[in-house]
Amino acid sequence: MSTGRLTIDLDAVVANWRALDGMTNCKTAAVVKANGYGLGAANVAKALFKAGVRQFFVAVAEEATAIREELGPKPDISVFSGHMKGDTDIIRELRLTPILNSVEQLTQHLEALPGHPFGIQLDTGMNRLGLEMQEWAAVAELALSQNPTLVMSHLACADEPDHPMSAYQLDNFRKMTDGINVPRSLAATGGILLGPEYHFDLTRPGIGLYGGLPFAQSSPTIELDLPVIQIRDVAEGEVVGYGNSWQAERPTRIATVSGGYADGIFRMLSDRATLYHGQQPCKVVGRVSMDLLTVDVTDVADIPSKLTLIGPQQTIDDLALQAGTIGYEVLTQLGGRYTRKTFGK
Ligand SMILES: *Cc1c(COP(=O)(O)O)cnc(C)c1O
Repeated sequence: MSTGRLTIDLDAVVANWRALDGMTNCKTAAVVKANGYGLGAANVAKALFKAGVRQFFVAVAEEATAIREELGPKPDISVFSGHMKGDTDIIRELRLTPILNSVEQLTQHLEALPGHPFGIQLDTGMNRLGLEMQEWAAVAELALSQNPTLVMSHLACADEPDHPMSAYQLDNFRKMTDGINVPRSLAATGGILLGPEYHFDLTRPGIGLYGGLPFAQSSPTIELDLPVIQIRDVAEGEVVGYGNSWQAERPTRIATVSGGYADGIFRMLSDRATLYHGQQPCKVVGRVSMDLLTVDVTDVADIPSKLTLIGPQQTIDDLALQAGTIGYEVLTQLGGRYTRKTFGK
C-alpha cells in the first residue's frame, strides 16, 4: 500500500471537548464545518453526540447532510452562512437552524419558512458576517418577536489574549444584546480561553476540539505516516527533484516518500519540512511535488519503511509554522488520498 496513513483519534476529540466544556459554566457546542476540520464530520459528530453534545455548527447547509444522516433528528445543527436563496428546501428537510446574517436573510427566512427555528448573527466589529448595530436596532423587535434560538457574534482576535479588539467586541455585543431573553454566544476556542465574561450561554469551539492552537493544552487528534517507496544513495554533487533545487554536499541516502502537495503537504515546505523516523528528524530535500517528497535519511541507522509528518515529534501547528500558515489550514487541507484509520468512539 503506497498511500499515506492518517490515524484519527476520536477519543482525543471527545477529551478536548470535555476539557473546553469544563472551562465554562455554560453549554458547549461543537463546530464541525469543513468536514470536521478535515477529520470526518460524521465520525466526529457521532463521537461528540455520544459524549453529550447536542448542538453542532456547520458553515454551509450542504455540510449538514452527512451529520443529520448520522445523528438522526435530535441534535440542533446550525448553519453560519444563514438562509441563502436556494437553501430553503435543505433547511426544511434536514431541519437546520440558519444563523441569519442580514436584513435580507431575515426577510427571506420569515417569508420562506415562517415558524421555522433560526438564530441571528450580529457584527461587533469583525466586518465579516452579521447585522450591524443600526440594522439590528431597526429589526431587533421583529426578530425577537419570532423567538430566535440564539443571538451570536464572532471575535476577530481572540487568539491574542491581550488584543484590545476582544474587549471592544464584547462591549458592542453587550450593548446590542443585554436584556434580551434569548441565549447568547460569543466565544469560539480562543474566546473560551479569554475567560468567563466571554462565555455567555453557549460556546462554539472548533479548532480546540481537533488539537490546534490557541488551545495549547489540547490533545493531538491525528497522526500522519507516509510510506517510503524507494531508497537511493546519491554522491556528493548530485541533485534531487524538480528544478535541481537541492544538491548533495555529502554522500546522501534519499528516501522517496508517498505524499505531496495534492495531499495537502504544502509546496512551500520544499527544502524546509522535517519528517521523523521515530524520534529522529529527517529533512525534506528538494521540491515537494504533487505526489512525492524526497527526504534525507542518511543518518537513519536502518532502512525506514515509513516516515512520520504529523505525530508525537511534530504537531499540526509546528508544521504550519514551517509553511507560514496555521494549524487550521494544515487540518482542512489533509488529502483525500490518505488511508484513514479512525478509532475511538
Ligand atoms: C469557525 C468558527 C468557529 C470555530 O472557531 P475556532 O477558532 O475553530 O474554535 C466559531 N464560530 C464561527 C462563526 C466560526 O466561523
